[in-house]
Amino acid sequence: MIDSALLNLPEFVPGSVWLVGAGPGDPGLLSALALHALAHADAVVYDALVDPAILRLARPGAALDYAGKRGGRPSPTQPDISARLVRLARAGRRVLRLKGGDPCVFGRGGEEALALVAAGIPFRIVPGITAAIGGLAYAGIPVTHRDTNSAVTFVTGHNSGGAVPDGLDWAAIARGAPVLVLYMALQHLPNIVARLVAGGRAPDEPAAIVSRATTAAQQVRIATLAELPAAAVGAETPAIVVVGAVVRLREALDWLAAAAERAR
Ligand code: SAH
Repeated sequence: MIDSALLNLPEFVPGSVWLVGAGPGDPGLLSALALHALAHADAVVYDALVDPAILRLARPGAALDYAGKRGGRPSPTQPDISARLVRLARAGRRVLRLKGGDPCVFGRGGEEALALVAAGIPFRIVPGITAAIGGLAYAGIPVTHRDTNSAVTFVTGHNSGGAVPDGLDWAAIARGAPVLVLYMALQHLPNIVARLVAGGRAPDEPAAIVSRATTAAQQVRIATLAELPAAAVGAETPAIVVVGAVVRLREALDWLAAAAERAR
């Protein structure tokens, strides 16, 4: 059990909402604040990306409330979810809004927080380990490396309508940082790769696809930038894509495979 006093953890006050990042999958990557929230929440409103192993850590008796897509039914809209959070808080619940990765990295945490502000509901934001950082670490790929890159770009391959974000200056993204990490990009990979190459990225640059990162089902596919669309065929989701020379470090740094080998 975690020691709330030693860790200086705040009380989860009834009638408040905590917007919490659950990290990319491995329950060991939860923060102490996230564990504390799971231990005290009355209601847990969670997304599809939250690992089932993490939900099992919720207080027995907590109401688990799924806010994602299910069985082909349309997912609740963002206003629906925000309204649900407000309703639960007004009913005096300790409401844990649990999201995959970090709540504010391509996770609409800001939108929900704004709705809570508008409704006068007290809230706290608990950051989580985002998929790009946790996923690359578990793939043995440092997201920055001194000899390789002093900058990294996180970019989404999807806009809210599901298309490649046209408002992005892909040529500038291609030139901007030696390492690019793409979220939600598998579906539009041919299009995105074409834009990056047109923007000046070398087609033979190393790249990787990390599927279901940090879970027992993690899979890594290595390819060149040009080969990425072919490499993505059949890859499991969720997946992040990384482009840049740091991918080569995996040859030496695949600690997860080394640990599995030692355990055999
Ligand atoms: N808030 C989340 C991102 C939500 S967007 C975060 O900070 O990580 C959803 C995208 O995140 C997915 O399409 C995928 O690109 C990425 N993602 C989330 N969890 C992942 C995982 N375990 N492995 C690989 N990619 C993941």
